[in-house]
Amino acid sequence: MISYQVLEHGKPLQKVLGETPKPQGTEVLMRVTRAGVCHSDLHIWDGYFDLGAGKRFYVKDRGCVPPFTMGHEPFGVVEAVGPKAKGVKPGQRRLVFPWIGCGKCEVCKAGQDNYCVSGSRFLGVNRAGAYASHLLVPHPKYLVDAAGIDEGFAATLACSAVTAYSAAAKLPVLGPKDRVAILGCGGLGLIGISVLRARGVKNIVACDIDDAKLAAAAKLGAKERVNTRAPDAAQKLVGIAAAIDFVGSPATAALGIAGLKKGGRYVICGLYGGELAHPLPPIAQRAIGIVGSYVGNLQELKEVVALAKKKKLRPAPVETRPASETNGALEDLKAGKVLGRIVLDMEAA
Ligand SMILES: [Zn+2]
Ligand SMILES: [Zn+2]
Repeated sequence: MISYQVLEHGKPLQKVLGETPKPQGTEVLMRVTRAGVCHSDLHIWDGYFDLGAGKRFYVKDRGCVPPFTMGHEPFGVVEAVGPKAKGVKPGQRRLVFPWIGCGKCEVCKAGQDNYCVSGSRFLGVNRAGAYASHLLVPHPKYLVDAAGIDEGFAATLACSAVTAYSAAAKLPVLGPKDRVAILGCGGLGLIGISVLRARGVKNIVACDIDDAKLAAAAKLGAKERVNTRAPDAAQKLVGIAAAIDFVGSPATAALGIAGLKKGGRYVICGLYGGELAHPLPPIAQRAIGIVGSYVGNLQELKEVVALAKKKKLRPAPVETRPASETNGALEDLKAGKVLGRIVLDMEAA
């Protein structure tokens, strides 16, 4: 098999030829056709998350040690199945749920694999991921039938759409006039707008520093656009009922929290980095909520796929590039030059 691996953090990925694994037990071997490139890959590539004040969280501390294959938005074809893998056949085209837990703890048994702490097996995070010709999945239950959805768009559902969907589920009950801000209109923010529209949210305020991304947000149904570099940006957000922060920087957090009306909620899923310093009394006095949201669970992915199948989820822009351009895709994402999502064509590996 071929994989594009991080051999050293921050250095270009290297194409590596290796032995194709043979699925054991309940495992399923997928031939990867599409792999989405996510912003969090940039942090894994760098080797750390910025915790602010000079502090870092190193990815090696959660089992991501080079040589390592990233890629957590996998779509592929079943190539081989282990002797105990039931209900799945070679040749089936499937979306892969990557946020896999230990499968044994109470959290996993309750279907919240993404919250597992006793041994997460997140594909492309602490298990070999999708920037490869082949991918090993621990159990067929993590394969989702996405028939009828464009495979490039389907791949992006595994992280960007399910993350937005799970974040949207944490919003407060909204009235018809309530406004919801989307902070950051990259790959997640744009599909986040589609997700909110699909959930019946009408008054979406798209916020970004890039007018091209704001124009794409308008096409997906954001009624208001705010360029956050404008001096009156904070003023324009005053009175929002909620904000979903897909950036997660001190600047976006400050903007989102300051704009909330009383009883409003700020949901953060972006991992840009930094720390939050906020006076405590107003959190109580304004009765605001500050909530974290991390990816989503298998059931939520199935719900997102069902929405996409019914054409209720308008696709954000997807650009397909050959696998050989993996490094260029990461560089462009880092430079903020990507509109929507880049999806790698792994068949071209
Ligand atoms: Zn991601
Ligand atoms: Zn678990």
